[in-house]
Formats: sequence, structure tokens, C-alpha cells
Amino acid sequence: MFEIVFLGTSASAPSIHRGLSAQVVMHDEFRFLIDCGEGTQRQILQSGLGFKRLNRILITHGHLDHILGLAGLLSTFMRWETIEELEIYGGKWALDRVHDLLYGVVLRGAKPPMKITLLGIKPGRIFQTDDFCITAIPVSHRGPDCFGYLFEEGNRRPFLPEKADALSIPPGPWRRDLVNGLPATLPDGRTILPDQVLGEDKPGTRLLHIGDVGRTSELVNAAHEVDALVIEATYLTNEADMAYEFGHITARQAAELAEMAGAKHLILTHISRRYRERDVLEEAQATFSNSIVARDFDIFQVRRDQVIKIDSQDK
Ligand SMILES: [Zn+2]
Ligand SMILES: [Zn+2]
Repeated sequence: MFEIVFLGTSASAPSIHRGLSAQVVMHDEFRFLIDCGEGTQRQILQSGLGFKRLNRILITHGHLDHILGLAGLLSTFMRWETIEELEIYGGKWALDRVHDLLYGVVLRGAKPPMKITLLGIKPGRIFQTDDFCITAIPVSHRGPDCFGYLFEEGNRRPFLPEKADALSIPPGPWRRDLVNGLPATLPDGRTILPDQVLGEDKPGTRLLHIGDVGRTSELVNAAHEVDALVIEATYLTNEADMAYEFGHITARQAAELAEMAGAKHLILTHISRRYRERDVLEEAQATFSNSIVARDFDIFQVRRDQVIKIDSQDK
């Protein structure tokens, strides 16, 4: 299961209701801040997330509405927050600009308050733990080296309690070992193998986050049957020519991608203040009914085949 907290859902410039791009994806104790638009640190405070363990940042691309908040965040860390190490992942173009911002503007020769590592990425696996991984997906937008991020849990074999009951396996450490794929020797001397109580391999939850993007055709594979597709919807179809010109997509194009890829849910963000939210939603839902437009401070739990909104402050 992944959780995603939207901190900023506005395109290009903030509006009264929406801050600039930033969201946090969480899995167990791991947290990833994706993009850090201007004002993100205040959104982090207001969301109640706090700065703890916010030590990994994934940048989709180097446009200012996605990175300027890094300067403020670092400036705050210099005063009072203690994070031992900050890792910032992104394409070369984005990281060059982040480097200029952090070292040229904020630090200007001062020692960083923590170890800062800028990790240049290429398409492919960029992060891996025992039970989930993150893959960088190349994305076409204005400028080179733009990336989306695919969060994937590993496959899992579900524990079948009815089989365990049939074998009279008592509750306790024996069942726990079997859940973890280990054989268990019961108090009565029998040894039970995981195969006897585990079901078929089931794919884990998958969440694809795409930031700004001008073309969806090459994303169909990455979005194939994902449980949640998070993607920009900067324009509506009546201004599709402008979307094309500026390397963005319309709500309908986002919905068509979700439909074509067989995604389970579509969550739209990077919303322009030129439009009403309800018009963006209507356009997307006309093509893909499981569409949602994210608002600042919305929190979604993404599970296998399921997206549950668990909190929202309607600002
Ligand atoms: Zn943007
Ligand atoms: Zn952009």
C-alpha cells in the first residue's frame, strides 16, 4: 500500500486555493517528496506531515514551479531542522538548476547543514527495498531529462487462513514464519511448508506519478494496469493547441491514457487557475469515469485495485 499526500496542485503559478507542485508518497517508514514548488515547506507544516524522514526528494524536471521551494526548505534546515542526509534525485538538467539554486543562491560557500547528495538518474530502477521499488520513466515535456516515477510493491503470496486451520496450525510464531515464506515446525513435531498455506503469487500495488508531460503515447506501457495514475491536466480540450505548444496535456488526454493503459484510477493535478475544477473533472470523467481532481492536502491510500481518499481540508 502507498499513500500520497498532495501538498500543491497548481500549474505554473499558485492560486488562492492551490499551492505549487509538491506531493509526498509514503510506504511504511519511507517518504518521498516529489517536486518542491515554492511554498512547499508551509504546506508540509499545514498538512501535519512535518519534516521528519523527509530526506529523499524526487524531481520530475527543472521548471521553476517544481523546484523553487528547495531553496526555502534548505534555508529552514540551516536554522533548525536536523535531517542527517538529503538525497535529491532527478535528470541532469533539473539537477544542474537545483545545484545552482542550492549552492549558488542559498549556501554561497557556506557549509550545508547536512550531507546533500544530488543523484543524477537515467530511465530504470532508481530505488529498491525488500518489498518495493521505484523506476524512473522518461517523459516528454519542454526540456530534456524529464521523469515520472513508478512505485511498485513486489509480488506477494497471500496467507490462506482456511488452509492453516485445516492443518490445525496454532496461532503464533508458526503462522508468522509461514507468512514470511519460512517453514514452521509445530509443537506436535510436524513441519509445514509455506506452499501448503500460501496462495498464488499476486502482483503488488503500483502507483505511477507523472509530472508535466506533453505526450502520453510513450507512457501506455508504464501505466499498464496501475492502481493509480497521477498525472497533470494543465489544459482543457478547447485549448488543446496551447497544451501542445507548451508541452502539456488536456484532461481528456490524461483520461485517454488511463483508459488505454487499463489504469484503475486517475488522479489529476497541476491544475490551471484558468479553469474551474468541476470542468476539469467533467472532461476527464467523460472518457474515464474513475477520475479524481486532487486538491491541496488531499490524502489517498493506494491499494491493489483501490484508491481511498482518507483526508481532505477543503480550502
Ligand atoms: Zn509545471
Ligand atoms: Zn514544466
